[in-house]
Amino acid sequence: MSYNINEKGYYGEFGGAYIPEMLYPNIEELRQKYLTITADPSFQEDFHQLLKDYVGRPTPLYFAKRLSEKYNTKIYLKREDLNHTGAHKINNTVGQILLAQRLGKTRIIAETGAGQHGVATATVCALMGIECIVYMGEVDIARQAPNVARMKMLGAKVVPALSGSRTLKDATNEAMRDWINNPVNTHYIVGSVVGPHPYPDMVARFQAIVSEEIKSQLLEKEGTENPDYLIACVGGGSNAAGTYYHYLDNEEVKLIAVEAAGKGIDSGESAATSVLGKEGIIHGSKTLLMQTQDGQITEPYSISAGLDYPGVGPMHANLYKTGRAEFIAITDDEAMTAGLELSQLEGIIPAIETSHALAVFEHKKFKPDDVIVLNLSGRGDKDLQNYIDYFKL
Ligand SMILES: *Cc1c(COP(=O)(O)O)cnc(C)c1O
Repeated sequence: MSYNINEKGYYGEFGGAYIPEMLYPNIEELRQKYLTITADPSFQEDFHQLLKDYVGRPTPLYFAKRLSEKYNTKIYLKREDLNHTGAHKINNTVGQILLAQRLGKTRIIAETGAGQHGVATATVCALMGIECIVYMGEVDIARQAPNVARMKMLGAKVVPALSGSRTLKDATNEAMRDWINNPVNTHYIVGSVVGPHPYPDMVARFQAIVSEEIKSQLLEKEGTENPDYLIACVGGGSNAAGTYYHYLDNEEVKLIAVEAAGKGIDSGESAATSVLGKEGIIHGSKTLLMQTQDGQITEPYSISAGLDYPGVGPMHANLYKTGRAEFIAITDDEAMTAGLELSQLEGIIPAIETSHALAVFEHKKFKPDDVIVLNLSGRGDKDLQNYIDYFKL
């Protein structure tokens, strides 16, 4: 049994491409070409060159000595926070911009909630001199002003989504509409392992550089490629997919996925998608999502803007359903405390998304000789105001 995607575009029963007829040509073009284009040696050469010289890879695998002492186990941090633009998202946007160029596309669209994916997209569009339009809910534009400013500075056009709750899902609808109207010259850069096939697989492959590096770095430090545990936070699931990728079918390596419980799983204000979700279709993919009895998508909540997505990628839905990964839900308060702790034990201020993953050590006891790799998915600069307000610093 494999936990990776099958040739029909499914992880177990999850995935597929449930799209309006009018999007079919775009998705089909991508599906037919993404594997051959990305396997081409010239693509691989350009991709790895940019990851090295522009993004700053390989990112270090850092043994967190004081954190390990505190929890009496061996904790390594995979430092995705040190990437250009401050998180793992750039691994994917670099891959997709190179793909878009080879597809002959001259215009890029994207949607963004917190703005991190918008910034990563605007960055690679500036790098390549390609027009960039980012859809963003009007409410999010007001909430995330610094990232809106960054996108504009980078030359992108930020278009407000004015319908519905004026947040991420409405921005996604606008981006889809744009793509339907501009199928020939436009590529849609999706920011996580979500959306219709082939997006979840394509994004997972671009993020797989993370587990590829973990294998060789851990071999050097511990004499084995295999940790006992891999830990990552899950919004849509891309940093977790990258962390797990080369270990998916190696069941000696245990996987832990951390979701945002918000104010508590049963509080009605949460983003614990797997635990609370039911099967349904969101953004073109069959997966687990938070919905009401009659199938209306529930507005998610988390203190972390990058985790409050009502669905989860199909790979993760399958990891949950099969029990391959253990899912742990962490509240706002637990995450904030863990973020402050890492800052003061290791001198690293993590993104609040990542702080959720770090809070696992208060939740679960590990053995002294367990080797754990945790994906430090992003840096906390963007969240400073949140930390300051929360702790009254
Ligand atoms: C966007 C983001 C996430 C959540 O997205 P995934 O696709 O689940 O990885 C997590 N951490 C950081 C730092 C982010 O910017």
